[in-house]
Amino acid sequence: MQPVHIIGAGLAGSEAAWQVAQAGVPVVLHEMRPHTGTFAHKTGDCAEMVCSNSFRSDDDVMNAVGQLHWEMRAAGGLIMAMADRHRLPAGGALAVDREAFSAAVTEALRAEPLIEIRTDEVAELPDDGNWIVATGPLTSDKLADAIRRLTGTEALAFFDAIAPIVHADTIDMSVAWEQSRYDKGETEAERRAYINCPMTKAEYEAFIDALLAADKTEFREGETAGYFDGCLPIEVMAERGRETLRHGPMKPVGLTNTHNPTEKPYAVVQLRRDNALGTLYNIVGFQTKMKYGAQTQVFRMIPGLQNAGFARLGGIHRNSFLNSPTLLDDRMRLRRQPNLRFAGQVTGVEGYVESAAMGLLAGRMAAAEAAGRDLTAPPFTTAMGALVNHITGGAEAKTFQPMNVNFGLFPPLDQMRGGRKGRKDRYPAYTQRAKDDFSAWLSAQ
Ligand SMILES: Cc1cc2nc3c(=O)[nH]c(=O)nc-3n(C[C@H](O)[C@H](O)[C@H](O)COP(=O)(O)OP(=O)(O)OC[C@H]3O[C@@H](n4cnc5c(N)ncnc54)[C@H](O)[C@@H]3O)c2cc1C
Repeated sequence: MQPVHIIGAGLAGSEAAWQVAQAGVPVVLHEMRPHTGTFAHKTGDCAEMVCSNSFRSDDDVMNAVGQLHWEMRAAGGLIMAMADRHRLPAGGALAVDREAFSAAVTEALRAEPLIEIRTDEVAELPDDGNWIVATGPLTSDKLADAIRRLTGTEALAFFDAIAPIVHADTIDMSVAWEQSRYDKGETEAERRAYINCPMTKAEYEAFIDALLAADKTEFREGETAGYFDGCLPIEVMAERGRETLRHGPMKPVGLTNTHNPTEKPYAVVQLRRDNALGTLYNIVGFQTKMKYGAQTQVFRMIPGLQNAGFARLGGIHRNSFLNSPTLLDDRMRLRRQPNLRFAGQVTGVEGYVESAAMGLLAGRMAAAEAAGRDLTAPPFTTAMGALVNHITGGAEAKTFQPMNVNFGLFPPLDQMRGGRKGRKDRYPAYTQRAKDDFSAWLSAQ
């Protein structure tokens, strides 16, 4: 049987290799480290955790990441098995001894007779064979060039500039209102496409003060090259002048507050729909390097967002990722060249767990294909299915930015209470439905 080739032995590639081998299909796993390094990796081990040592919440009832852990364990995932083996005490989070964890993943892959690990940098994209590209946020320059040549220059980004994403049902619509600037749009839905949050002068001044005072993270050495051109963090805009934001992303023109039509807001924060379900909205132009704790405090000062629940917070990072909604089919294959399947952070998911989960799925799909079978993704009522559905179709392609797993990606349940107060009933219902549907998907294989 022809082997599946996997490029990159990070979180996604290691899990993909394991899944392919467990299906009885041979694997060649290509990893450029330690010969060629990145600014973040320090070792030659597989599945190196480049920053924190946490796989985040392990609560599979009330948390979407915890639910994803559950699904990966149910599918015999290597990353979860080794994380469980090298777990450290961390409250409800799954934190691990990172060196022991990576060493154990490497050892398990080396011990698997169907897996051959080759230390080489893949610089071109082969046009035949069964390949998985799992080269991550720090894909080598040569391969990134090859991806750009194949997909077009707009299709592979080198930085993410993430604006915070808010759960729609936590926005206070007695304060905010729906309207596109100058009522632009052919249809009523387009004319109401944005949610607007008004600010008085006093609220704006207090917001700018908080923004300037907030704790920020620094770029790491080697991370920033050529970045600052198109996507300034909001706090940098505020540093350039207190009025800059009011003439940029917070400009109040072309909008009338339906709750108070005679009073012109001094500034307006706009939120734009982020997924087809309409459950998530991003704060337009609000990419930021503020620390996470500071972000929730500062953003909840925005009228209408005082109780906001954040599906993900903002950030700006070195990150190579595809415009997956336009480029990948629902089997994670490049539409233009289906012998190439993508997995991990390069597909536009964000985080160790999400990357490994996409590796798990890509590995199973590639193994099925090698055996002449077709495997569809799990239903999008599951955490894994919701995530892959988001990147391959559910997300807005024009504003696509990397995404964590979160309940905003799950199809809503009828007759469940919305907002932050409804979470204690809604979240267990989501995770129970996900467990039932994931188990059914697994047992059908
Ligand atoms: C600086 C930084 C910090 C991060 N911190 C966190 C964090 O704290 N928590 C979190 O959840 N997520 C974090 N992430 C995001 C992300 O979850 C991790 O980067 C995660 O490792 C992604 O998994 P992956 O398998 O897609 O990529 P990686 O784990 O990076 O694996 C990709 C592998 O491909 C190899 N490779 C690249 N190009 C080639 C090539 N041409 N040929 C052969 N091999 C190649 C690389 O050496 C690497 O081993 C961070 C990302 C970065 C860049």
